[in-house]
Amino acid sequence: MDLGIKGKRALVCAASKGLGRGSAEALAAEGVDLIINARGAEALQQTAADLTDRYGVSVQAVAADITTEAGRAKVLDVAGPIDILVNNAGGPPPGHWTEWTREDFIKALDANLLTAVALIQATVPGMIERKWGRVVNITSAAVRSPIPILGLSNTARTGLTGFVAGLSRDVAKHGVVVNNLLPGLHATDRADSLDGSAAQAEGISIEQARARRQSGIPTGTYGSAADFGAACAFLCSQQAKFIIGQNLLVDGGTLNVTM
Ligand code: NAP
Repeated sequence: MDLGIKGKRALVCAASKGLGRGSAEALAAEGVDLIINARGAEALQQTAADLTDRYGVSVQAVAADITTEAGRAKVLDVAGPIDILVNNAGGPPPGHWTEWTREDFIKALDANLLTAVALIQATVPGMIERKWGRVVNITSAAVRSPIPILGLSNTARTGLTGFVAGLSRDVAKHGVVVNNLLPGLHATDRADSLDGSAAQAEGISIEQARARRQSGIPTGTYGSAADFGAACAFLCSQQAKFIIGQNLLVDGGTLNVTM
């Protein structure tokens, strides 16, 4: 299916690896020009070069911490007017609710709520003026089914979900479509690190921890960054114009609910 977005410009945050990269790649495959970001310059430049080679699109790489005001300013300066925004950042560390301090919460809120809000505030007014825009926020399946050890993530991401619920309905009349994409378990560095934490906590090997986590997924496997990216590109498509303020789970059926 032609998603009808060839020649659009997208900013994909936290995109040198994992789900951000998968999303950037799926957009590049549709002919979308990209601005991609991550903190580490080397992997970011490598990703930019790969995507340009494979898809022939323009890819500008901006190394910066997207969760800081200075980092966002640097990225937005290079990006200029954009049609598509994919909000993403690293997730907060696991832990126990008895240990989290006010500073831990502020850091999680900054990274996984206020960064997305700031980038939306900076870019959506331009989309409204141009009467077309797409925003996809990468959140987590944890907003539907909380993960106790990821309480910092549960808290910040449900806050973003509430913000998007109102915002998406407000801007829809201008052709701006805003949705959230909720990853379940995907094979990325983040999943490796959570497998490692689970292995340590339970005194088992990483392979055992992974097998245990995979056994809870109806597909029997982790998702891939490409699976996730395909869903992201669809939410950025022309065809998605009537999908407003939704929270789409990409979790292999893990959440055991009827609706
Ligand atoms: P990942 O494989 O660890 O990749 C993270 C990417 O984000 C890297 O490119 C990293 O590059 C970049 N990044 C991290 N912090 C950044 C920052 N402050 N500023 C700019 N770039 C930053 O993670 P992932 O699995 O793709 O996860 C993406 C998001 O989805 C995370 O918030 C995660 O919590 C959430 N999620 C993932 C899963 C899963 O199973 N994978 C499930 C649910 C939710 P640098 O380190 O060089 O900055």
